[in-house]
This record gives sequence, structure tokens and C-alpha cells, in this order.
Amino acid sequence: MRILTYKTDGGLALGIKTGQGIIDVAAAAEALGCSDVPVTPAAFYAQGIDAMPAMTALADRADADDAPWLLDEATLQLGPCIANPEKILCVGLNYRRHAEESGSAVPEVPVLFSKFNNALAANGEDVPLPSAAEKYDYEVELAVVVGKIAVNVSEDNALDYVLGYTNANDLSARDLQMRSSQWLLGKTLDKFCPIGPYLVTADEVGDPQQLSTKSWLNGELRQNSNTADMIFSVAEVIAYVSRYFTLKPGDLILTGTPEGVILGMREKVWMKPGDVVSIEVGDFGKLTNKLV
Ligand code: ZN
Repeated sequence: MRILTYKTDGGLALGIKTGQGIIDVAAAAEALGCSDVPVTPAAFYAQGIDAMPAMTALADRADADDAPWLLDEATLQLGPCIANPEKILCVGLNYRRHAEESGSAVPEVPVLFSKFNNALAANGEDVPLPSAAEKYDYEVELAVVVGKIAVNVSEDNALDYVLGYTNANDLSARDLQMRSSQWLLGKTLDKFCPIGPYLVTADEVGDPQQLSTKSWLNGELRQNSNTADMIFSVAEVIAYVSRYFTLKPGDLILTGTPEGVILGMREKVWMKPGDVVSIEVGDFGKLTNKLV
């Protein structure tokens, strides 16, 4: 299943993508009397995996010809598909060839940093590049969405805690990132974490270590790798993190970027206003943003 959020006068609404259009979850649940369905993005992400049986049942019933709750996706202004995570956790240097291009040693434990919610942006949303920095770069990443409380889980069971996956672009200002030993400043500028367009549920994705990871700058393919090149797998990252702090439904984990970023190029032409950057993991659908 593919789940999204879209903007309405009353805030972000929850939608399910079908072949016939986007199900307005709140309208369909009301019309069909499905009182167990979470009808807002906040309610859905608070329940996580526990909400999936009711969401699946609703999707089956609501995917009907000419139903009044089916919306045309082209008319919607999308929101970030995960609207308000408690945590946005990122893994640095998690692909072998990216660690090499960055001139960094292959890490022996996951390198963790974070972004804040101010960085979230939706597919199609413009991303402002502040004049306070100049070395702007892209990073395609597989993002994991946690589906239930995870404390001290084993690597073998870790994927049972995953609600689904989405595209994330870990936009970075390299000059700010490298200003001190802490990368935070260069990572969490406003709208520097575009995600989406969809949360793709885990059952649809299968093995998260067999997904292509691609990015394009102004239509030119820049990154073209695969999650098989990850140093620490999704399961290893979840198990490792859950030993130290609690993961909650709706938490977002960006799992690192492969080689092909501007930082790793001999001649570095940084991104600038007017550029258009797209990324895609697997067949999740392209995530495209214009820099302004
Ligand atoms: Zn990254």
C-alpha cells in the first residue's frame, strides 16, 4: 500500500493511492462506517503497524468506481508523507563507495546524526538555499519508517518493527556540515529533508537491501547504486539504535547515501537556485524538488 498526506484548509489529510485515484481516508471511513480507521496522519503514525489491518480493509472497500472519496492526485498539493516524527535519525557514511569518495575510513559502528522536523518537505515543494552557505549537495537515501515501539530488538527481528519505507533527500550544506565536528548545522536547514511522495508499506518492498538508489540533477543521472552496498543493513541499524534509545511509531531513519554526491567529485559544481533535484529508491516514485 502507498500512503500519502495532502494539504487541505484544515491541515494535512491522509490518503491511500489506488489505481483509480487517491482515497480521502477520512471521507471514506465516515461514508463506509469504518470507525476503527485512523483518519489523520498523526493518528495513523501514532498507531503504526497496528493500524494496517483497518487501513487495508478500508482500501479494499473504498477502491470503487466513481466513489465520491476518490481524488485526482494531480489536483492535490502533497505534504511530507510522514508529517511529525518524534525523531529523524540519519546514518552517515553507510555505503562503502561513498565512504571512499568522501576520503573517510569505513566506519566500525554506525555514524549517527539527526535532522529536525523543520527540515521536512514534500514532493514538489521548493527548497530555499540560504545565502549563509554555498556548498549545496544532494543525497538519495532509503528512509525507514518505524511501525511499533522498538527497545533492544535483535537484528533477526528488527524488520518486524518497520511500517514501511520512503525516499529521502538528505540535502546538505557541506561548508556548514564541516565547520565543526558535528554535522548538524549543515543538515537541518529549513526543508533540507524532502521525503515521499509515498510511504510504501513494508509488505510491498520486501528485502530493503536489494533496492536501487538513484539521483538526478537537472535530469542528469548522478547517483546510481543499490542498498546492497550498505555497510550496516537496515536491520543492523534498527537493532543497534534500539539498544540505546526507544524507537517509536512514525520515527524516520535515513540510512545513508551511495557514491556520486558532488562532495566526492574532483571538480565540484555545487547546487544553486533554479536547479531541480530528483531522487528515487526502488520503484517508490520520484521525489522532485526545485531549489530556489
Ligand atoms: Zn545522508
